[in-house]
Amino acid sequence: MQEFSHYLNGTRVQGSSGRYADVMNPATGEIQAQVPLANSTEVNQAVEFARKAQVGWSAVNPQRRARVLMKFVSLLHENMNSLATNLSREHGKTLPDAIGDVQRGLEVVEYCIGAPELLKGDFTNSAGPGIDLFSMRQPLGVSAGITPFNFPAMIPMWMFAPALACGNAFILKPSERDPSVPLMLAELMEQAGAPKGVLQVLNGDKDCVDAILQHPDIQSIGFVGSTPIAKYIYAESAKAGKRVQCFGGAKNHMIVMPDADLDQAADALVGAGYGAAGERCMAISVAVPVGQETADKLVEKLIPRIDKLKVGPYTAGDDVDYGPVITAAAKKNIGRLVQTGLEQGAKLVVDGRDFKLQGYEDGFFVGPHLFDHVTSEMDIYRTEIFGPVLSTVRTNSYEQALSLAMDHEFGNGVAIFTRDGDTARDFVDRVNVGMVGVNVPIPVPLAYHTFGGWKKSVFGDLNQHGPDAFRFYTRTKTVTSRWPSGIKEGGEFTIPIME
Ligand code: NAD
Repeated sequence: MQEFSHYLNGTRVQGSSGRYADVMNPATGEIQAQVPLANSTEVNQAVEFARKAQVGWSAVNPQRRARVLMKFVSLLHENMNSLATNLSREHGKTLPDAIGDVQRGLEVVEYCIGAPELLKGDFTNSAGPGIDLFSMRQPLGVSAGITPFNFPAMIPMWMFAPALACGNAFILKPSERDPSVPLMLAELMEQAGAPKGVLQVLNGDKDCVDAILQHPDIQSIGFVGSTPIAKYIYAESAKAGKRVQCFGGAKNHMIVMPDADLDQAADALVGAGYGAAGERCMAISVAVPVGQETADKLVEKLIPRIDKLKVGPYTAGDDVDYGPVITAAAKKNIGRLVQTGLEQGAKLVVDGRDFKLQGYEDGFFVGPHLFDHVTSEMDIYRTEIFGPVLSTVRTNSYEQALSLAMDHEFGNGVAIFTRDGDTARDFVDRVNVGMVGVNVPIPVPLAYHTFGGWKKSVFGDLNQHGPDAFRFYTRTKTVTSRWPSGIKEGGEFTIPIME
């Protein structure tokens, strides 16, 4: 059986904890590998290597650091097939979706190649007599990132690319469920020219995460995952005096106005609701038709589209729409929530409960489900299901639909489908959600804008990628300098006022 490792200072090491987690093949339900779980010994070693490596790396000028990222992008392209195949084998998503996972990470690396421009500081000439004032951005030192299973390529790159571009060393603690791609990324980065110890990977669970949170020489923590863990990591990191940004769970609504193109809306809902088996933080999990007639027509259009979905392993070819969910536990939890939906009175109009895939009976496949007549009190509405389950909440007016999205505790993404510019504009202006789509179901911003939700989908104040990433991974130093020609004789005892 394959055994993974950690990646410390340019070397694959097993570590000393003696604890391992199983890496499953979600399509077959078999254990396909084991991954070691780090403890504080490995964390201490990684930090020591990172501290040393960071000194030299931060002294490399931004343009040369950017060249390493440039080379890394070429290596990602060259290795795209093996990255995507490994990703699909452990995560279960289709190959085109796995390529998309790598691609959306790669785009952030490309953005970070602009580091020389993005790290330029501010300068005020002659702020006072002989006085110049300038601000510069300096790296934090050692940063760490804790990432989820659902984007094992994209989210690590969203973190380590800007961290490295800014001159930090980075310790990545990826999800223990799909560890092979993060390890490959670290090796490719080194092949691209990053010195040993600048990017390291520690596999692990809570023990490893806690050792990271408590380590005094780690300056910043980035986290992406579920809301309860996001909240915990935010609190613990802040308590330890670290800079921290945590991105949590979601329940994304798509409002469908009576004037929307309902075929377009139904197509969008099926892709955004069931793609990647619903395991995307930007998946649409709630359809909100406005008006009973819109709801009837929308549900009528959704059912045949959902019936046609092809569920299967990534090996079954490009016409597979989605694969298995990540674990047996995730599958069980989805089944439990579906049962709760029925008990609480929702109408299951597409029932995926008996779905079985011949030859893959032990895999973690979940058939698509569509609920109608869901209400805001039900558990299936309030909870992030993270599976191929779409809920329809019928509303009678635009205001009611808007309030529904606004009253939900999560605020990651939201969309409105309409042909009316005034309604769309009002919606964009008023909705309290971080990423908004107008006739776009999954409004994930491109690399040069920033990514982040509102409400319980985020803890911290700076977003991921775009200019915010360069703010998060640097601190500002502001220098006021005066040269002798501007100095009057005698000391100054009052706060200087520049006139
Ligand atoms: P998760 O919270 O279970 O795990 C995320 C990371 O935290 C993993 O590395 C894991 O090892 C670690 N972890 C788990 N339990 C921990 C504990 N008790 N203490 C310390 N660390 C712990 O999330 P997941 O199941 O891997 O990912 C799915 C979740 O991530 C969903 O809620 C999804 O919405 C969210 N997500 C959010 C975004 C976003 O940008 N907002 C993006 C992707 C995924």
